[in-house]
Amino acid sequence: MTYIAQENRYEQMKYRQIGRSGVKLPAVSLGLWQNFGGDKPFEDSRAMILRAFDLGVTHFDLANNYGPPPGSAEETFGNVLKKDLASYRDELFISTKAGFYMWPGPYGEWGSRKNLLASLDRSLQRMGLDYVDVFYHHRPDSGTPLEESMGALAHAVKSGKALYVGLSNYGPEETKQAAAILKNLGTPLLVHQPMYSMLNRWIENGLQDVLADVGAGSVAFCPLGRGQLTGKYIDKLETEFKTGLRTLKPEAVSQERINKFRALEAIAKRRDQTLPQMALTWALREGGVDSVLIGASRVGQIEENMQAVHAEPLSAADLQEIDHVMHK
Ligand code: NDP
Repeated sequence: MTYIAQENRYEQMKYRQIGRSGVKLPAVSLGLWQNFGGDKPFEDSRAMILRAFDLGVTHFDLANNYGPPPGSAEETFGNVLKKDLASYRDELFISTKAGFYMWPGPYGEWGSRKNLLASLDRSLQRMGLDYVDVFYHHRPDSGTPLEESMGALAHAVKSGKALYVGLSNYGPEETKQAAAILKNLGTPLLVHQPMYSMLNRWIENGLQDVLADVGAGSVAFCPLGRGQLTGKYIDKLETEFKTGLRTLKPEAVSQERINKFRALEAIAKRRDQTLPQMALTWALREGGVDSVLIGASRVGQIEENMQAVHAEPLSAADLQEIDHVMHK
């Protein structure tokens, strides 16, 4: 059946300006890391991508190695684009990345110009695209001069294969240096993609200040701590704790952790939210990030998580309580 997008999709989402650019991204974006690979039924992946688009998600985040197997998430996304979303290309903001291991030999990973540009060509082929909206260097590489990696990103833009560039997993100082090089090359840094959630607040120690200085935005990955900030995980922790079964890391299964998650769940409930919704509202709060990249294995998770966009902001008292719980 021919897919026709929901007419009211843009009323369902909030969009935020990214750094000092003219680009707006949805507060909630969809990441295709682990649940859209060749090992998953295509129709499930297709349903999640289309439902997200119907809910106003314009930003879809990929990388060369997403799958499994590596590369297959881009193929899945390319198939959905071809089948359903081709006429909506100008409404989509698609990112990909290179830097992690992708093929054997000295050019299959890290940050050389050889690796980054060859990888981008492969990503475009897999997705059937002429260009991506953002091309990221996926991780810093101390074995390659920063000028070379940033030169490759700028070249991707100048050759028309990417519209903007991004950095992921770069620390504050590396980001500052990289942004200065990119600026000189006439390709300003659009966005940084760091890990960020109530469980991991490292960006508050320097990175956010650098991003504000250089005028770049932030899109957080793992805002639900890879699923830890969901009720499902707490139930699993509790079962393992009670039965002594240990499929999780022993340090993860403690009464202290269970208490923390239960306390967060109680705050969420009081606010009429689920825990994942509150975790997203928290990451998107004033002083947090511009967009959160959620992962999902079911349409229902996407629908639930999108509600975070319309929630009451967390009050100062809520925020204090969350800090107190997390530092306990
Ligand atoms: P999350 O922290 O959002 O965790 C997602 C997982 O949480 C889902 O797969 C699902 O687990 C569970 N979940 C989500 N919503 C719900 C819900 N409402 N109720 C119950 N469980 C829920 O993010 P990810 O770790 O998946 O990362 C998100 C994206 O970030 C990736 O797809 C990728 O695009 C990006 N990323 C970038 C990295 C980088 O280095 N730049 C590194 C890692 C991720 P389940 O599948 O078990 O149902």
